Amino acid sequence: MDNFYERYKSHILLEEIGIAGQKRIKASNVLIVGVGGLGSPVAMYLAAAGVGKIGIIDFDTVDISNLQRQILYNVTDVGENKIEIAKKRIKELNPELKVVAYNEKFSQLNALKIIKKYDVVVDASDNFPTRYLVNDACAFAGIPDIWASVYKFEGQISIFDAKMGACYRCFHPIPPKIGTVPSCGESGVVGALTGIIGSMQACEALKIITGAGVPLIGRLLYFDVFNMTIKEFRIAKNKNCSLCGEKPSLKQLANYDEFCHINDFIENEITSIELNKKIKTGKIQIVNIVGKAEKNDLIFPTAITTSVNNLIFLKDKFNPNLEIVFVCKYGYRSIYAMQLLKESGYKGKMYSLKGGTRKLSIYSF
Ligand SMILES: [Zn+2]
Repeated sequence: MDNFYERYKSHILLEEIGIAGQKRIKASNVLIVGVGGLGSPVAMYLAAAGVGKIGIIDFDTVDISNLQRQILYNVTDVGENKIEIAKKRIKELNPELKVVAYNEKFSQLNALKIIKKYDVVVDASDNFPTRYLVNDACAFAGIPDIWASVYKFEGQISIFDAKMGACYRCFHPIPPKIGTVPSCGESGVVGALTGIIGSMQACEALKIITGAGVPLIGRLLYFDVFNMTIKEFRIAKNKNCSLCGEKPSLKQLANYDEFCHINDFIENEITSIELNKKIKTGKIQIVNIVGKAEKNDLIFPTAITTSVNNLIFLKDKFNPNLEIVFVCKYGYRSIYAMQLLKESGYKGKMYSLKGGTRKLSIYSF
């Protein structure tokens, strides 16, 4: 408490925050789901602001490609556990804070138990099952969900608070098909954009904690940093929403991987060891599913290479007596490729390389 007034002087000077607001920040608990591109600035600014207890949950390791935007990590952290490094950085910035690090997958089994310990949740995840999970758990616990997403040059942010406005399901009742919305690692994203949007999430969390300002409930801000334009949309509560509508059908947390069809092709996913065995049989055809920028960066440069959109036009090129193994960088678009080809009536056996090629090298095969 010794340097409380000095350290937080710039907040205390603000009439809308003042000493009372800064004490509320010190007494508050915020959970950050995901400590990647968005989670990094959220964690740093909330720590700098003096949030008394910060919970962080993630179960990934630091990859060299993360450093383009995930400012919690340094070159020396590559290969290390994200959550431990994140905890260390937050404590270095503000040793007085309590940091609770959950090195586990956020799932329907632990979500409510964890979320109930916090006043505000910041969804800094990068996938649809987690977004629905955070939304539903927050609605059940009566806690606001500060949500955001980034894609290429575009970012979106809103607060879903089922008590006061729309929830994520009012906005997106049905998840998109797996593989149709690429992740940042697949489609690319401007690193500094994650800084802008993550900082806004931190800002909204501090507004909710202190009661200052007008929170982004029922509104969505859309950022286009390519043209540097900002649009605001209203998100109305959907009276037919399965979670927060007049007759909700959802009474408890569900299986979100299943809801987002993540498990539909689980039996068709193979590991790199299984792929190696299949290569040795000589009875497979490998198909690279790529985005625009990836064509020079392939583990199987001589294999058939196509975008997911062009795949259907290659249908007749495949030999149905040979098994197809689809490979892509992260292992999502390859699942979507199986789904598309199956829907088109293709009868041959198909597999997808689990987890993609991102952590493999040409020497793995
Ligand atoms: Zn809703």
